[in-house]
Amino acid sequence: MTAPFAYVRVTDDADAALDTATPGTQVLAGGTTLIDLMRLGVMSPTRLLDINRLAASPSTRWGRIEETDKGLSIGALVRNSELAYHPAVRARFPVLSQALLSGASPQLRNMATTAGNLMQRTRCAYFRDVGVAACNKRNPGSGCAAWDGFARQHAILGGSRDCIAVHPSDMCVAMVALDAVVHVRGHYGAAGEGVTEREIPVEDFHLLPGATPARETTIGPGELITRVTLPATRLAARSAYVKARDRASYAFALASAGVALHVEGGTIRAARVALGGVATKPWRSREAEQVLEGHEPTDALFERAAAAALATAQPRTDNRFKVPLAKATIVRALARAREAA
Ligand code: SF4
Repeated sequence: MTAPFAYVRVTDDADAALDTATPGTQVLAGGTTLIDLMRLGVMSPTRLLDINRLAASPSTRWGRIEETDKGLSIGALVRNSELAYHPAVRARFPVLSQALLSGASPQLRNMATTAGNLMQRTRCAYFRDVGVAACNKRNPGSGCAAWDGFARQHAILGGSRDCIAVHPSDMCVAMVALDAVVHVRGHYGAAGEGVTEREIPVEDFHLLPGATPARETTIGPGELITRVTLPATRLAARSAYVKARDRASYAFALASAGVALHVEGGTIRAARVALGGVATKPWRSREAEQVLEGHEPTDALFERAAAAALATAQPRTDNRFKVPLAKATIVRALARAREAA
């Protein structure tokens, strides 16, 4: 049974970030992760801060998608469906539209928000089962049941002895391929006075588990995501997302690839390769990008890039299949990007 909690609806744009500093607070946006985890007893906030009303304020960007000379600005409360079907996203950032539409179900996408997707938590079955004692992410210092347990869904990149849980987002993988930037508002300074915004490249937003898997992102109490920006680059239009999963819809990735290519004169001038379903955070492969850049976009080159991306993979017995599967998704995504635009 869900423990009692206070419910607070915030309408003041200026104070919203400070409100998150109250101990026991969790921010409620779409609620598609949080409500599930509260019902399971995995998360037990004493205070829910509902920020949904901020989207209705005409003076703020919380619920808006805006095209600018520099790219695209996506409000924290923009729903995943709206973002996926936005004409500018489909035309200029196709990898993002494809990634969003490959995730969850239409009903969930209608509720889930941009910021909530960034803050999405793992689907590790041991994490979601409070009957399992050993989970360092849920209960720091308790161990990792997945390490010696069944780990078919788990990470082959970026794991540690303390946690091998996969980051589940499709959207974040696409955003890594697009060099997205997360904008965060916080009350900084000794007394918490002074509202400031800071910008975090999405690639750096999520943390590797290391010895502290309970700490998942670079933001903390007193901070709130306000929007995400996508820069207008030559990479974005020639981009694609490919996802391999157990069934054709409403399933998390076993392996996915979000890629973007800038091809000029028959040569790849710049490349982005990001992976999902195989790593503890949305994973950028600079190794694959280095293989691609400066060369003709051939199938053989794509195979070499995929091999480079998985060269440091450390699969468990149950998920060795993810290595060839991830390679195949990279090769297929690169081939689709080559044909795009
Ligand atoms: Fe918990 Fe991470 Fe281990 Fe899963 S993989 S049981 S989330 S510590």
